[in-house]
Amino acid sequence: MTWTISAKRLLRATLAESLTTTGLLSVLQSRAARHPTILYYHRVANELPAPDLGLTVTADNFNAQMQWLASHYDVRPLGNLLDDWAAGIVRTSPQVAVTFDDGYRDNYDVAFPILARHKIPATIFLTTAYIGSSTLLWWDRVAKLLARARQERLTSVTTGQRVPSKVRDAVDIFLQRGTKNAVQATLDELKRLGRDARFQTIDAIAEWVGDSSTEATDRVFMTWDEAREMSRAGIDMGSHTQTHPILTELTEPDIDAELRHSKQMIEQETGQAVTLLSYPDGCFSDCVRRIAEEIGYSYAVQTRRDLAVGPNDRYAIPRIKIEESHSLGLNGRFSGSAYAFEVSNLPNLLLLRDARQANPYRSALARRSDSTD
Ligand SMILES: [Zn+2]
Repeated sequence: MTWTISAKRLLRATLAESLTTTGLLSVLQSRAARHPTILYYHRVANELPAPDLGLTVTADNFNAQMQWLASHYDVRPLGNLLDDWAAGIVRTSPQVAVTFDDGYRDNYDVAFPILARHKIPATIFLTTAYIGSSTLLWWDRVAKLLARARQERLTSVTTGQRVPSKVRDAVDIFLQRGTKNAVQATLDELKRLGRDARFQTIDAIAEWVGDSSTEATDRVFMTWDEAREMSRAGIDMGSHTQTHPILTELTEPDIDAELRHSKQMIEQETGQAVTLLSYPDGCFSDCVRRIAEEIGYSYAVQTRRDLAVGPNDRYAIPRIKIEESHSLGLNGRFSGSAYAFEVSNLPNLLLLRDARQANPYRSALARRSDSTD
């Protein structure tokens, strides 16, 4: 409903504005001097894709964000920031680290020159099996299929029982409305299915659309040469596994292989030690954490923005996801206070967004363990 969206945006903008006028921003920033504030991005592109999965920030907006960050925060390499935090070292200035997941090509083409312009260090978590390739990760494949279905004016999924009804309903809503929420709902329903059913369903959707390709026409991921060039320029490379599986859906030997081989490969290709891990989709378990530690990772980051991180949580470090809309004011242009609002983690403190929102992958696992009990 349009009214709800406007009311929400107005509330956010008002709160964001009051951050600077009330001095609350400096209070929150002094908090950021004690806790690691870590932002995460996926893609930076000249335009938002259609459909928009909420993973892309436009180049102009990203440039304004980095400019703002450089003048309000001490932007530090993630490893250094975490070493200080683990050692209990408190800096006087607010600290932040910038990270990227997946290793998309646009991190080099678009984000890297902007980071260099503002002298911002960053960490990119690479999915090593896809470096230099045109592979479509499953959500990108779904986005491509949905775009094609809308282009061809398909109005409803017609594959009978091969697409579970909740996924079919979500896709149908997307076909009618084309909204970001509808795409998100489709992806969430697919996540809830569990690994095998998820991929079978995507194949069934592909058959319905008439597009069986799992590759994009252009290269999707950065090359090792690009990763090396960035690494030499102060951008650290961490591991995001080899093939981006949901680690909690794997057996122990498979978890071990994903974490170990990706680390070895990045070290071999860049000549730099890899101590940082980002769990794909933020999914981890006690077993995953233990293996990460055994293999020699010093820290692992997740995708939730919970505040409560104690010194023992080196393998569950929270991060704040930044989306395009997070730094836009009511006029649709960059707003420093809107961005400050996100970076300060105020939406979480005010419980505007449910930070403990159920991870859809977890509900699939919970159902599976229920049924085997
Ligand atoms: Zn990822």
